[in-house]
Amino acid sequence: MSSAWGCTYLVEDNFCSLLKKVCDPGDKGCVLYGKALFSNPQSPSSISYEKKREHERQKVIQEELDNAKFH
Ligand code: SF4
Repeated sequence: MSSAWGCTYLVEDNFCSLLKKVCDPGDKGCVLYGKALFSNPQSPSSISYEKKREHERQKVIQEELDNAKFH
């Protein structure tokens, strides 16, 4: 049984039919952009992913601070 993920936009010769260029997983416009953390921390997807996580952390902290004001 294979569990490898296959992108539906990947066509012949490692070409991305969505971005109209060679497949570069995690690049801006890729379906994985911002949704996956890559081993390369400089990957656009990894940077976006970390920014989203930091934004979510800040939101939780702010909500906790707001709730603490009323108790
Ligand atoms: S760049 Fe992203 S969207 Fe395009 S083929 Fe590769 S994995 Fe799929």
